[in-house]
Amino acid sequence: DIRKKTLEDSTLEAEAEPAIRNGEFRLYMQPKVDIQNGNRICGAEVLVRWQNPRLGLIPPGRFIPLFEKNGFISELDRYMFRIVCEQQKEWGNRGYAVVPVSVNVSRKLLYDLNFVEKYNRILTETAVEVQNVEVEITESVFFDNQPRLLDAIRHLHQSGYRILLDDFGTGYSSMAMLKDMSFDTLKIDKSFVDNIGDERGNKIVDGIIRLAESLELSTIAEGVETREQYEYLKAHGCDVIQGYYFGRPMTAESFEMLLSSQTAGR
Ligand code: C2E
Ligand code: CA
Ligand code: CA
Repeated sequence: DIRKKTLEDSTLEAEAEPAIRNGEFRLYMQPKVDIQNGNRICGAEVLVRWQNPRLGLIPPGRFIPLFEKNGFISELDRYMFRIVCEQQKEWGNRGYAVVPVSVNVSRKLLYDLNFVEKYNRILTETAVEVQNVEVEITESVFFDNQPRLLDAIRHLHQSGYRILLDDFGTGYSSMAMLKDMSFDTLKIDKSFVDNIGDERGNKIVDGIIRLAESLELSTIAEGVETREQYEYLKAHGCDVIQGYYFGRPMTAESFEMLLSSQTAGR
């Protein structure tokens, strides 16, 4: 079994480079909903899927760890950034009220001293405003080079990007990261949202929201699946939610339909 898995891993790795050229990596988007303002769609998160000719649609959990190991993730993240910028540009041209979308940035990318310049260049080439793209940095994988991370964050801010601290509370340096680094938004991890309804679970979520408020960070709750979770978060001042309750990750075409119905309803 191990040999089979290893073989499959190296096949995927070998297929990755041509897959970019063939457009097999697809842009999925999951809506973010502003629950304090009439449940408007106020943004989306970009999530990659691989439409592999042999295996069908592969979720990122199957290939991102491989690409983080072999370094290909930097290329993939940059590619996703480019196609989302092209998409934003097209929506803008067609008159939609464009909402900001966030991309995930692997910690691997942060080692590349020029990654912010590379992203800026893509913005220039596609003529997309920096306000329309945001960057999610996860805290769950410990980054062993704090100065480099600080530097990357400073650099991103100088260029005007909003930065989201992803998976908040799951790493082992959550508080240190909040203390030392300036983020704009805190994403409350699904594992906390799952515990809403439980007395202690509620207190923890409420506590995270209060903490974010006092640090003047906005909050997004991830993985919201039920009405109960939604109502608790709304009543306790969480700004935005993302989760199956409002929408699963969907193709850009489906997201466009959602956006256009909202634009029409204004
Ligand atoms: P993430 O950044 O924490 O993304 C949220 C994950 O939660 C997504 O899984 C999403 O589909 C899932 N999710 C959202 N709402 C719900 C819900 O209500 N219930 C449940 N059960 N799940 C929900 P996905 O798309 O499989 O992505 C997994 C991870 O892969 C992401 O976690 C992110 O860390 C990584 N990833 C995805 N796309 C990219 C990318 O383009 N670049 C990089 N570097 N990482 C990516
Ligand atoms: Ca994310
Ligand atoms: Ca997350």
